[in-house]
Amino acid sequence: MTKSLNIIICGAGLGGLGAAIALVRKGHRVIVLEAASKLNEVGAGIQIPPNSTRILQTYELEEKIREKIVWPSNINFRRYATGDVIGTTPLDPVMSEKYGYPYWLIHRADYQRVLYDAAKEAGATILLGSPIESVEESESGPSIVLKDGRQFKGDLVVGADGIRSKTRKTVLKENIEAINSRNCAYRATIPAKVMNSDPAIAHLMTDINSNCWIGHERHIMAYPIRNGELYNLVMSHPGQASVGRWNEPGDLDEMKKHYCNFDPIIQRVLEHVNSCLKWKLAYLPPLTKWVSDSGRVVLIGDAAHGMLPYLAQGAATSIEDGAALAECLDRVQDISDIPIMLQAFQAIRKPRCEAIASGARANGDIWHMADGPEQAQRDSEMRQEMDHSSPQTVLNPNKWSDKDFQPWLFGYDTVKLTNNFLDNYLAQPLGSEKDQLNTNRSRIQVISVH
Ligand SMILES: Cc1cc2nc3c(=O)[nH]c(=O)nc-3n(C[C@H](O)[C@H](O)[C@H](O)COP(=O)(O)OP(=O)(O)OC[C@H]3O[C@@H](n4cnc5c(N)ncnc54)[C@H](O)[C@@H]3O)c2cc1C
Repeated sequence: MTKSLNIIICGAGLGGLGAAIALVRKGHRVIVLEAASKLNEVGAGIQIPPNSTRILQTYELEEKIREKIVWPSNINFRRYATGDVIGTTPLDPVMSEKYGYPYWLIHRADYQRVLYDAAKEAGATILLGSPIESVEESESGPSIVLKDGRQFKGDLVVGADGIRSKTRKTVLKENIEAINSRNCAYRATIPAKVMNSDPAIAHLMTDINSNCWIGHERHIMAYPIRNGELYNLVMSHPGQASVGRWNEPGDLDEMKKHYCNFDPIIQRVLEHVNSCLKWKLAYLPPLTKWVSDSGRVVLIGDAAHGMLPYLAQGAATSIEDGAALAECLDRVQDISDIPIMLQAFQAIRKPRCEAIASGARANGDIWHMADGPEQAQRDSEMRQEMDHSSPQTVLNPNKWSDKDFQPWLFGYDTVKLTNNFLDNYLAQPLGSEKDQLNTNRSRIQVISVH
């Protein structure tokens, strides 16, 4: 029988809250400790691709999320200067038809609120205003010390504390900092009534698509969110800002200057922006491990695999992490099983997340090419995807639409594949990997017949 565990999650971001829902639904007792004293209302749009809508639907969140989301028909990739479409990835209804689950757009604050309410409703305890000072390990298990001196002890600790994670130091025993990319992102929203009152751009609110204008070192991804109440803009450009803050203000004149040679339509949209936030785009190098030496502290989400947003997968993979972790811990029958099940979690999640992170970096390079022969070749290869009369033969340089990468990315069934993996992993004869873990042969055999 599965053992019900006392689990402490550090961080109530999208990853921590997703994990809380998954773990409580499996019967564990979960406390989430969050530094912020209230949920962050800032931020902007987030895309929720089918690999995560699949999971959200198993949490029965579709009804709750429905009034907050937008269902885009396509992502249109456009030449930055003219707005000409050079590639289209069909989303609705194609994603549901191909992968069984839709592609949604949402405001980050709405997403966090839905997950927060669902985690609480399911039975998680969420303590806001609880900044973690340190994560400690002893023979009797891991514990947390908050800045105000309060202490919490659990059977395991899940570090979902973002790209500047404190938990990561406990796991790795050294400070691994995020690597700054050259780029920052401005994020802004415009009310629908402002968009609708300008005939030059009102169509962007009725023709529901994501549009991505791609140019040298810059792009603008734009789409409606909050059931069409807001138009959202994410604008990547070379620049400086602090890592891990969602609320650093950006300079409007500087922002407009970055895009002064862009399509007049999107420049017209930018004229309506009254304020924007600026966010440094950073990523983590592949970590040596996600699980501490004691096997009782594990990293998930941006704390484990913070990635660039050029595949819109950071939150999606964090949601996958929570679902996969819950499946792994479902095989725990005794507290002494936790380390091997966390090793299994790492073994299945790390390669996938690192491959996605590397795909996201590559996609950034592809989108941000300078004008020239290489860019012309890219555009011609991307245009092929728009010819739906014949099957795609050339690999699409834009990974979002590539015929091999896309099904692997969006068609991923976390729960099923984690369980398939666990069945094989635990049934293997004792090999070097498990011997190194000094795990107990009889325990593995007991788990493997679970
Ligand atoms: C411009 C941009 C666009 C993006 N677009 C998309 C997209 O379209 N789709 C997508 O899937 N992803 C997207 N992402 C990525 C996504 O936002 C992140 O991957 C995701 O939010 C990570 O969630 P997380 O819970 O792991 O970390 P975070 O959201 O960073 O949450 C960490 C939480 O831990 C808390 N915390 C930190 N330290 C402590 C401490 N010491 N004590 C207690 N609490 C602590 C923080 O306050 C925070 O609430 C985008 C990112 C950027 C920058």
